[in-house]
Amino acid sequence: MPSSSAPTHEQRVIGLIGGMSWKSSAEYYRLINEGVRTQLGGLHSARCLMWSFDFADIEVLQRLDRWDEAASLMVDAAQRLERGGADFLVIATNTMHIAAPQVQAAVGLPLLHIADPTAERIKAAGLRRVGLLGTAFTMEQDFYKGRLEREHGLDVLVPEAEDRATVHRIIYSELVQGRIVDASRQAYREVIARLVQAGAEAVILGCTEIMLLVGPDDSPVPLYDTTGLHAEAIVARALGSAA
Ligand code: GLU
Repeated sequence: MPSSSAPTHEQRVIGLIGGMSWKSSAEYYRLINEGVRTQLGGLHSARCLMWSFDFADIEVLQRLDRWDEAASLMVDAAQRLERGGADFLVIATNTMHIAAPQVQAAVGLPLLHIADPTAERIKAAGLRRVGLLGTAFTMEQDFYKGRLEREHGLDVLVPEAEDRATVHRIIYSELVQGRIVDASRQAYREVIARLVQAGAEAVILGCTEIMLLVGPDDSPVPLYDTTGLHAEAIVARALGSAA
């Protein structure tokens, strides 16, 4: 039996809506547990529940623009996690935050939105004009860019159409399947360089798998990785006094 005089720390139970893809959910799980261990030490690890989707079920609804059905699945997952005893919820992907309003309306638990800790960190660095990489849905629709612009006052640049198509294709045909391809890293570097040329002072990796492909060495400006920043905020919420 471990011997420790450390007090037992109360932790809020994290409810993760994951599996989108499981590659990034695995990163969330690792980062959250490492974060709790760093703060509490010893044998501590995170108290969490995860509902992990079969991503094929989600991807087909996205591709066919059946967003209401995709949102119903997110709500169902949120309700399962609420029944399971989660204290707060996170959607462990940027794209499905398209359903954040429906999820928030359907459960009595707070939802920690992925865009918020990312935007807070960018603002704290004194930056305002940011490039955004993600799925076509995230780059082109209002649910994500709009939140960054209206609620956080950021000025969001997205790549040109051809670059958006490249970024999107690499996410679905490689990254969510765990394929890391050097030529795709080079393609992302070039897209980032064009965003910087267009005035981006920083670039948001607004898809939770992009950090598997590119890192700080691939960009002349700071990269803001939504997976890592979301995980940090989740740990703070699980351990902190904020509701
Ligand atoms: N994980 C990705 C994101 O952060 C894409 C997968 C999905 O469509 O959920 O947007």
